[in-house]
Amino acid sequence: MYRNDTIYYPQDEISTVLLPVTLGCNYNRCAFCSMYKDDRYREVPFFDMERELLNIYNYTERVFLTGADPMSIGFDNMEKLLDMINRYLPYCACVASYASIRSIARYSIEELTILHNKGLRLLYIGFEAGRDDVLKLMNKGQTVEQSIEQAKKLNRASLQFNSIIMYGIAGEGECISNAVATADMINQFNTSRIITMNLIIFDGTELKDMLNKGEFIPPGARERLLELKTLLENLQPSEPTVFDTTHPTNIISIKGKLPQDRNRLINKIINH
Ligand code: SF4
Repeated sequence: MYRNDTIYYPQDEISTVLLPVTLGCNYNRCAFCSMYKDDRYREVPFFDMERELLNIYNYTERVFLTGADPMSIGFDNMEKLLDMINRYLPYCACVASYASIRSIARYSIEELTILHNKGLRLLYIGFEAGRDDVLKLMNKGQTVEQSIEQAKKLNRASLQFNSIIMYGIAGEGECISNAVATADMINQFNTSRIITMNLIIFDGTELKDMLNKGEFIPPGARERLLELKTLLENLQPSEPTVFDTTHPTNIISIKGKLPQDRNRLINKIINH
């Protein structure tokens, strides 16, 4: 089903059964993103999702909903979808999905709690940065305050999420300040995992245009490593959090639990 469409999923979900829910991105305006630039946004009809579920192994324990932001289909559709997954895959203990701060803002805590109770157990959310000017420059469509507010809502609904952030995104000379601000933002809520991505400037993006016009100067590798180190130094999670730079875009691959692995991770960066 939808085999010719672009489908992305987190590397941790490489062995997970994938269920397409949306195609393309209904926002499609982040300056750094080329993922769905040429794709038309559409929601997968329930009939097609049901047909897909019928063909999935009955004892499947984990499903990942694909699409840039499946939560954008709204509460009623998400509830219907989770009911359908429970019906066809009664042993499925975890439904995971990408989500955006913008779409979570459309849900109440009560609705998020209902979805959690029906099996939605993990979201992957792009926070990207902890500075409003950086989020604005990248046209991310969210502020730091909104990010914190929605993250706290998820905490109250006991819905776990991984926070994706992007280093290098603030530009040359701004990495340390962005790292401090990003750590300050993340310190306001509990997140299961902090997943870092390294900024890569792709052809066809607004960021590439900014680069060509000299409006954005990307930081060098040394400054990017300093950003990661500063981030690690400033993160003060109230509950253990995994810090994970193993995504292929990263310039260093480290992984550990905060706070206990902080020094080990920092030493790996210093000795890189
Ligand atoms: S980063 Fe996510 S929300 Fe932004 S354009 Fe890309 S897919 Fe859409």
